[in-house]
Amino acid sequence: MAEEIATPSGSADGVDRCPKCGASDVVQLEDQHQFMCSFCRHRWGFERLDEAMGLSEGIADLTGVSYSTAASDIVSDDALVTLKCDGCGSEVVVDTDRTLQARCHWCKHVLSLNNRIPNGAVPDGILPFSVTREQAMAHIQRFAEERRSFALPAFADTFTPANVMGVYLPYMTVDGNISARLDGIGEITRRTTHSKEHGTTYYVDRYGVTRMLDIEIDDLIVESNFEKANIRSATSTNNVINAILPFDVKNIVRFDAHFLGEDYTSQRRDMDIDEAEGVAANHFMTVARGASEASVAQYRRGVRWESEQLRIDGVRWTSVLLPVWLYGFVENRKGTPVTHYIAVNGRTGATMGSVPINTRKAAMLAWGIAIGVSVVTWPLGFAMLVAS
Ligand SMILES: [Zn+2]
Ligand SMILES: [Zn+2]
Repeated sequence: MAEEIATPSGSADGVDRCPKCGASDVVQLEDQHQFMCSFCRHRWGFERLDEAMGLSEGIADLTGVSYSTAASDIVSDDALVTLKCDGCGSEVVVDTDRTLQARCHWCKHVLSLNNRIPNGAVPDGILPFSVTREQAMAHIQRFAEERRSFALPAFADTFTPANVMGVYLPYMTVDGNISARLDGIGEITRRTTHSKEHGTTYYVDRYGVTRMLDIEIDDLIVESNFEKANIRSATSTNNVINAILPFDVKNIVRFDAHFLGEDYTSQRRDMDIDEAEGVAANHFMTVARGASEASVAQYRRGVRWESEQLRIDGVRWTSVLLPVWLYGFVENRKGTPVTHYIAVNGRTGATMGSVPINTRKAAMLAWGIAIGVSVVTWPLGFAMLVAS
């Protein structure tokens, strides 16, 4: 039942040339919708991923697990990929943990990786930066200023917004054809009485409430790097990234390494679909709870869901890179380094950070509440995908 959707082949790996004159120096224009050859000034556009792969269609008909070529399981840990430069024949190494482009030291051609390699580094799509470095620096500056009074002195003293880096972080997008069933108790207040003796008394009617929903979910995004998903790393407050969501995923375009250029780095996907499914299921359940809200409005005192069941009839996965400006600061907490980030959404400018706190000045910071899911049924095809 697991079905692979072919990722269209990208521009050539190796020297990726201007279609008109063959030069390899390509820049992305400010308006974000075209590349331009630095040599002959020829311009060409790029294609939206949705259109290239038909990803907005057929969600209601999804059954089992579908995934793009670029989202298929990682079979190699090797981050270093060697390309043969077709300008001069030398071998050029690309460190895919950081980027998907490198310049040949000998002939200065730019070499790009645009097609699937077994280490998960090349995605289906990319959402180009539209917030500039200067704008990101201003957002970070404002964020840090507002929190200066309770930040650690070491953070406040060394804060330099110029140290901001543009990073493309790996995510999976997932479409879901799901059914959810929620069972719980809804309450309506009929009347209240007040007395000196007993204070306020509420007379409440209680109802058993059940909601069954069929939902199509389009382009949910899920982290696909363990460090960012905060699964393996206890020493990093990376959940700040979740706070700068959402991204305008409909504007994701077909991947081309030219988007990285020399200005941005990228991080490699290191999670497979079976490792990202739990997070996706949580997101699906959150969507289902939200979708039920309008239909339980009559229970004005609220509804407490006591059982939640989620059946995932079909899912479709692709892999993408999303743009984030990051400012990092390492705090030495009793001998253990803890990395803090201020992150700026590279599309919307939304800013969030974990400024190291002087605990004597600030009482408490809470990041959010984890949401549990009672029952998740994945399609049968999933087991087959994992086993094969
Ligand atoms: Zn050209
Ligand atoms: Zn060369």
